[in-house]
This record gives sequence, structure tokens and C-alpha cells, in this order.
Amino acid sequence: MDFARVELSAEDQVFLDETRAFIATHVTDEVRRRDRQTGENFDEQVHLALGGAGYLAADWRSESDGGFSPVRRRIFQLEIARAHTPWYHWGTTSVVARLVQQFGAPRLCEEVLPGVLSGEIRLCLGYTEPEGGSDVATCKTRAVRDGSAWIINGAKMFTSNAQNARYVFLLTNTDPRGSKHKNLTMFLVPLDSAGVEIRPLRTVDGDRTNIVYYSDVRVDDRYRIGEVNAGWTVMRSALDAEHGTGEREDHGLQDVATMAGHGVLMAEAVDTVAAIASQPDRDGRRRLDDASVKHRLGRSFARVEAALSTPTMFGRVAIGQTMRDISPDLMDILGAAAALPTDTEGSADDGVTDYLFRLALPTGIYGGTLEVFRNMIAQHALGLGRPRYG
Ligand SMILES: Cc1cc2nc3c(=O)[nH]c(=O)nc-3n(C[C@H](O)[C@H](O)[C@H](O)COP(=O)(O)OP(=O)(O)OC[C@H]3O[C@@H](n4cnc5c(N)ncnc54)[C@H](O)[C@@H]3O)c2cc1C
Repeated sequence: MDFARVELSAEDQVFLDETRAFIATHVTDEVRRRDRQTGENFDEQVHLALGGAGYLAADWRSESDGGFSPVRRRIFQLEIARAHTPWYHWGTTSVVARLVQQFGAPRLCEEVLPGVLSGEIRLCLGYTEPEGGSDVATCKTRAVRDGSAWIINGAKMFTSNAQNARYVFLLTNTDPRGSKHKNLTMFLVPLDSAGVEIRPLRTVDGDRTNIVYYSDVRVDDRYRIGEVNAGWTVMRSALDAEHGTGEREDHGLQDVATMAGHGVLMAEAVDTVAAIASQPDRDGRRRLDDASVKHRLGRSFARVEAALSTPTMFGRVAIGQTMRDISPDLMDILGAAAALPTDTEGSADDGVTDYLFRLALPTGIYGGTLEVFRNMIAQHALGLGRPRYG
């Protein structure tokens, strides 16, 4: 790993200054407060502003296609993370838009891609089902051919941001008698279709997600993404992006691991606790003078540094596991008032550690649980073979 500092050219420095100022104008305290309250991880005004200023298009396109250079992409992504921009929905939108471009009909690309880049069209993921999400290929949501269209029936669990999206990238089963992985087909289903019902669902950390029901939803064949029964091939690219197992470029400027943004939040929380623990109380005593506090804070710093330096799938597990392990320690150091959420009088840290503690649980679930990632590492990275249960 190369820890060298990147010297910015004068033009890139201007880009950094302008981007930081632009984000500060749009991602205000009010936006962040609303995001904590709604748990949506999305803000339409911010998204449209970034689209209107060309940031979404530049982030989505490759450099050769007019997008950001690697340095500017890094600057943009770091500034977005540092401002705590509600950002999750761009992740799903940009990944799915790439698959539409790669596997979708030209007419569908024309219908969808310009709106994605302007920010008006957002795309969400419909993989997980009520009976289980880790083994997505067991999908039961049915799509049955009906002339030039398909009729879809089923239910999807945890379709995050469906309430803000125009389409869902939907995994369906098109051949229940076919063999696993060879009976799946992907669609980009317009969420305003008759028969789609979106019901809100709130998770333990306060996130808003949804359960979505599909009852005789009629979708034209032009919304199919990839060949019939070849959905697994299409979906693999999306899963690789989500799992952080996709190809890495050799300029070294990409995030070390997926979920690095969560790592930034975690690092900020440890800094916050260290700053509070260094303050003397009315009697001149500091929490930091207690050897056990020093030990636990030191251990948290070391764990965070190790997690932030751990690459790819390993890094994703390291970030999720570290967040679960250190957040109780951080809350304990600050005492009972650390359990009070943001904007609450008497909170020890304006809810920073309380939020980290609650975020740690879903961070080890969405996009694949920590257990499933550990199996993938064992099987694919370490070559230890398939796990055997029972
Ligand atoms: C906040 C949030 C947002 C989400 N957003 C989306 C979204 O936008 N779109 C979407 O499609 N899904 C989404 N998900 C779903 C997420 O991807 C699934 O929750 C996840 O894949 C796990 O599936 P499951 O919850 O059905 O658990 P299950 O698969 O039922 O697993 C239950 C338990 O069994 C363990 N387990 C399962 N299989 C194995 C195995 N092979 N080896 C070892 N242990 C195993 C798991 O680790 C877990 O502890 C979201 C989830 C959350 C919490």
C-alpha cells in the first residue's frame, strides 16, 4: 500500500475548493439533521443539485468518456463522505445504471440514463425476499411471459429507497423447474406500475427501508435486463461492486474497501470521544487520566486504523466488525449520557456514539452479512473450500 501524499495541481486544487464549497452550500446542518430523522440516506434537493452541476455525470462516466480523472474522483468522493452527505441512493443508482447500459435495450438506455445523470431518475435494488436474502438465487418472485410483456408476482424485503426511486432492479424467477442460477431474469420495473405496493419498514438504527409487493405487475419486455434465464450473469457484476470484489485500478486512489465511508464515521467518532475525554471536569479530572479509558481508547484507535487499511472484502468485514466491537466501548467511556441521540439536551456527544452503535448492526447485514463475507473469504480468497454445516 502506498501512503504517499498526492500533490495537487493548481487546477485540481481549484476543483477541490469549488467542490468543497458547493457541497457545503447544499449539504447543510438542516440536511444532515433531516437525514438522521428520516433515516432515508437520501436528499432529493442535494441529489438534483449535484446532478444539475454535472457531478453525478462526471462521477458515473469513465475519464475517457468525459468523467472525472482518478484524482478528481477521489477528491469528490472524499468531500461527499466528509460532509456526511446522504448518499446511499447514488450507490445503487450508479451500479444499476451501468448494468442498464451494458445489458439493456438501446431504447431503455435512452429512457433511463439521461435522467440518472441529471439526478431526476433513481434506481433501487430488489433482490432480498421475506424468506431470506443471503442466498439470493433462491428467488421466488415469479415473472411469466405474456406476449410482448411479463407478469410479475411476489414480494421483496428491504428495498431501500423504493419511495425515492423511479425503477427497481428486480430479480425474478422465470423457470421454477430450472436449475439454480439458470432460472433467473432481471428487470428494471417502473415503480409506478399498477400492482406495485411500497410499504415502509424501519430498522433498529432508524433507517427507512421498504417491503414491496408485486401483484400481477405487467412489464413490457423492453424492461428486461439481459437474456431470459441469464439474470445471474447480470446480477454478478452488481454483487461484485457491492461486495468490493470488482476489478481494482492500479492508480491506488480508489477506496481501500467498500463501506470506507462508514470507516470515516467511525474514525470521527473515536476522535470525538478522545476530545471529550481530554477535557477536565469541574474538579480538574479528565476521563483520559483513567488507565482503563486510555487503554480502551488506544485499542479503538488501533482497530480503526487497521480496519481503514484493510483492503477489499477483508476491509469490509474489518470495518463492520470493528464498528460493532468499539462502539460499546466508546459509549461506555462517555457514560449513560452517550445513549442520548443527536439534538437531545444532555447528550454526551450530540449522539455521535449512539448513532455509531446503532449503525454497526445493519452495517454487518446489508449487501451481505459478516458471516457470509467470512465464508466468501474462506472459500474464494483463501481457497479453503465450501463450508459444511451440520
Ligand atoms: C438497512 C438494510 C437495507 C437493505 N437494503 C437492501 C436493498 O436495498 N435491496 C435488497 O435487495 N436488500 C437489501 N437489504 C437486505 C440485505 O441484503 C439482507 O438483509 C442480507 O443479505 C441478509 O439477508 P437476510 O436478512 O434475509 O438474512 P438471512 O439470509 O436469512 O440470514 C439470517 C442469518 O443467517 C446467517 N447466514 C445465512 N446464510 C449463511 C451462510 N451461508 N453461512 C453463514 N451464515 C449464514 C446470516 O449471517 C444471518 O445471521 C437490506 C438490509 C438492511 C438491514
